[in-house]
Amino acid sequence: MVCYFAGMQSYPSKSIENAVEQISKLPGIGKKSALRLALHLLKNDENYTNHLVEALAKLKADTQFCLTCHNLSDDPICSYCNSSSRDKQIICVVEDFRDVMAIENTHQYNGLYHVLGGLVSPMNGVGPSDLHIDTLLARLDGSVTEIILALSPNMEGDTTAFYLNRKLTAFNLKVSTIARGIPIGGELEYADEITLGRSIVNRVAQ
Ligand code: ZN
Repeated sequence: MVCYFAGMQSYPSKSIENAVEQISKLPGIGKKSALRLALHLLKNDENYTNHLVEALAKLKADTQFCLTCHNLSDDPICSYCNSSSRDKQIICVVEDFRDVMAIENTHQYNGLYHVLGGLVSPMNGVGPSDLHIDTLLARLDGSVTEIILALSPNMEGDTTAFYLNRKLTAFNLKVSTIARGIPIGGELEYADEITLGRSIVNRVAQ
């Protein structure tokens, strides 16, 4: 029987308690959800639970960061950096590997990437030296002709872009920023004024 006492929960078995304790450390998972997941695993086919445990162990053991672009990779150099069909003259700079996945899903970009590992945020004590900026500059050996800054349209993204722009002026490069504007299918009257304002300032010729 599960009973509740002064906010403490007691579990019918120590192994369930341990599982709940570990699962509830995941972001967005409270004790209740953790218990639900633990009971789900308990009821599930043993093969599935074994596969899950194996996948989680491999996740940590086999995943590494590309030595060149810092993207997640199975090898020391990732599949993008290693690919002979990617355009090695363009580097798209992003905050983290989820942005790489999002851009790849568009099938509109065939250059390389550089993952900064965060954004400059003085409020949170994150300075340029905490990001992979030195390794980006080290890649600019003359073969790269364009840098695309694909950073979030917020204060941290703008601060980071400002810093990078200043650093990149020392190189003979085209530096561009991804366009920001009204979402496809969105209605003008519902766009916030900053987005709408930027869309007008950065309007494109037809
Ligand atoms: Zn790479």
